[in-house]
Amino acid sequence: MTLSFDPNSISVPKGHHIGGRSVELPGAGIEVLRPSDQQPMGTVGDGGEEAVEMAAAAARAALKTSNWAKMAPRERAKVLMRFAQLIEENNVYLGQLEAMGSSRLVSGTITGDAIRTAGVVRYFAEYCDKLEGIVTATEGGTLSYVKREPYGIVGAIVPWNFPMITAAWKFAGALAAGNAVIMKTSELTPHSLLALAELAAKAGVPAGLFNVVNGYGHTTGAAIVRHPDVMMISFTGSTQTGAAIMALAAQSGIKPVALELGGKSPQLVLADAGDLDVVAGRVSTAFMANAGQVCTAGSRIIVDEKIADELVERIVGKVRQIKAGPTWDETTTFAPIISRRQLDRIDAMVRQTVAEGGSVVTGGAPLESRNEGNFYAPTLLKDVADDNIGFREEFFGPVATVRTFADLEEGIALAAHPTYGLSASIHTSDLKKALKAADGIEAGMVWVNQHGRSPEFTYTAGGFKGSGFGKDMGRAGFEEFTRQKAVWVNYA
Ligand code: NAD
Repeated sequence: MTLSFDPNSISVPKGHHIGGRSVELPGAGIEVLRPSDQQPMGTVGDGGEEAVEMAAAAARAALKTSNWAKMAPRERAKVLMRFAQLIEENNVYLGQLEAMGSSRLVSGTITGDAIRTAGVVRYFAEYCDKLEGIVTATEGGTLSYVKREPYGIVGAIVPWNFPMITAAWKFAGALAAGNAVIMKTSELTPHSLLALAELAAKAGVPAGLFNVVNGYGHTTGAAIVRHPDVMMISFTGSTQTGAAIMALAAQSGIKPVALELGGKSPQLVLADAGDLDVVAGRVSTAFMANAGQVCTAGSRIIVDEKIADELVERIVGKVRQIKAGPTWDETTTFAPIISRRQLDRIDAMVRQTVAEGGSVVTGGAPLESRNEGNFYAPTLLKDVADDNIGFREEFFGPVATVRTFADLEEGIALAAHPTYGLSASIHTSDLKKALKAADGIEAGMVWVNQHGRSPEFTYTAGGFKGSGFGKDMGRAGFEEFTRQKAVWVNYA
């Protein structure tokens, strides 16, 4: 079966999804462009306070009438399992919609993103009846227990780089725990989440429990954070926006926030890493996949000086093999940048890195545009010192810096970053060194001989320091959507 498709043949959802149906509100629209060719894909509204209030009213009503939080957990699980099944059955449509509207390649969205989104929903559905509390030690005649309860309405805001999957990490956990959700995805990639919301309604998720409002961050996103009925915020996005959301949540009634933020992840390559061609493939995928628009992108290559020249040469060889092209062409291997603005930002940052003393090993400029798409050449930079912007800030594009070290201690020290601590990888055939480096690196996720999240849903993701706090996926990513209540009973 060919996975390539004609993007003009795909139907695109409209409006916001509030109270179980599509709702269009008057007001200014946001024109969404396809990153592969800059052609218009559709227009969505900037919902602002009006849409968020409608969604909150729908969620309040749904929580009351549907008994979602209090029904037998297995019944809740059944509904979510049906939802997962529908996602799976619609994987071709969802995968095509995702490929059309984002930087994700169709070679991965149908069999990957869409199927994984169904998997995430199923994973959390299975948690519905596994929510447990504790009974604490007390004197006779008293009973003390701690139970976990849903918050009520959860606000979830996500970015554009994996629109369906990152959204599912939030809505599936929140719904499984008994909450209603008001979601906003990026104004650059609104459509696939709308399609998921329609499937949720078809699967029997009670109308009003799963709402999607579209719009800009400073208007609609901020309105979600500020709304008094939204009791908890789960956010994925940049560190700057995460800080703004934290401040807004503090000013809006003190509500908890879970933040999955940016990264500047090191790839520590030891001299005993193994077949250098294999290692070069792994290391280059880690900064080039999705054109580097991955929070955990391995954007800092830190390599033993004994193998540095050969590794860099082999990485440059891998870079030459990429095929940039439209996301709907199954032979494309290298993704576009999500928007012209982001492309310009990456280019400006690379130029600034060079102005501050860095030098270009390969790349360093936009790729000759194909179909007017936004493509940036995979770029390797060296001589990037600690005070250089190329070290301090996240590129969020296919750009990596290279540094060398003389011994493991120096390598571990270089892997540290003053701001970020999202993830790191170590490439070595020596288990002792791998464990030593894993202990020494300050990051929320550490991988040995791979770079990137485990495909298992059980794997809890989240960062340290400026990369945020709170977890997505795994048991912790489910419990994130609950709050603990301590109950004390005197029966003496
Ligand atoms: P962004 O922070 O600009 O936007 C993320 C979301 O927040 C969007 O929906 C946006 O509309 C909204 N937003 C913006 N300002 C807001 C405000 N003041 N109030 C409320 N909402 C607001 O991020 P982006 O450019 O869309 O995505 C890229 C960033 O996301 C990168 O920094 C990347 O590392 C990070 N990211 C992190 C993870 C993770 O798991 N740690 C995963 C994916 C992406």
